[in-house]
Amino acid sequence: RATRGVAGAARARVQGIPSVTAGAPAFPPRVVLATGNAGKLREMRAILAPWHVEVQPLSDFTRESVDETGLTFVENAILKARFASQAANLPAIADDSGLEVDALHGAPGIYSARYAGAAADDAANNAKLLHDLADVADECRSARYRCAMVYLRWPLDPAPVVCQASWEGRIARGGRGTGGFGYDPLFIVEGTTRRAAEFDPDEKNQVSHRGLALRALVRAIGEGPAGA
Ligand code: IMP
Repeated sequence: RATRGVAGAARARVQGIPSVTAGAPAFPPRVVLATGNAGKLREMRAILAPWHVEVQPLSDFTRESVDETGLTFVENAILKARFASQAANLPAIADDSGLEVDALHGAPGIYSARYAGAAADDAANNAKLLHDLADVADECRSARYRCAMVYLRWPLDPAPVVCQASWEGRIARGGRGTGGFGYDPLFIVEGTTRRAAEFDPDEKNQVSHRGLALRALVRAIGEGPAGA
């Protein structure tokens, strides 16, 4: 596990399982990205841009999605990657991510997208989070985003590449900022007084759970461009 220096005293962690060894194929020319979330797709495309890989969203191949029946980010990311690789007949990259709030014993966690109900949008999820934390003191509102990023060469690839990362912060008492998506208006980035929604897209991708996990994944798959 490595701790990376980011703006201020912020902590972000990367944890990788480098399951690619010498002789493994380099990064493929084309992959399917197993997400229907527009915010994630935008971020992942920008993070992958230096590799000049052709990235196709799952929506190019099917309108269906897989049931996220896993109990961990890693399990759900593998389910999504397997489904996407099968649907597209391509290598797949999948992310499963969410917000972990200490005062809520890790909730909403893997249920972050549907915290306020199956059809909940970002506004409803944020409103529920504020409600659930209404009685929690400022010093007890610590939280982190977590991301598991998975690469499968084929649907039944028995050796997935898995990288995980986190991004520390705390939950504010009201929203601010217009960038990002999801819980970003409520997420005060550790070591700063700014919300994730106040980071510009490149800045967020440099330090976020998703940016760290995806760059670690690409490094594990094959050699990336210098400095990426
Ligand atoms: P998934 O699509 O099942 O992985 O759910 C991810 C959910 O976690 C999103 O819908 C958001 O609610 C939350 N989430 C993950 N990453 C972020 C982020 O970078 N900003 C804000 N919310 C995030």
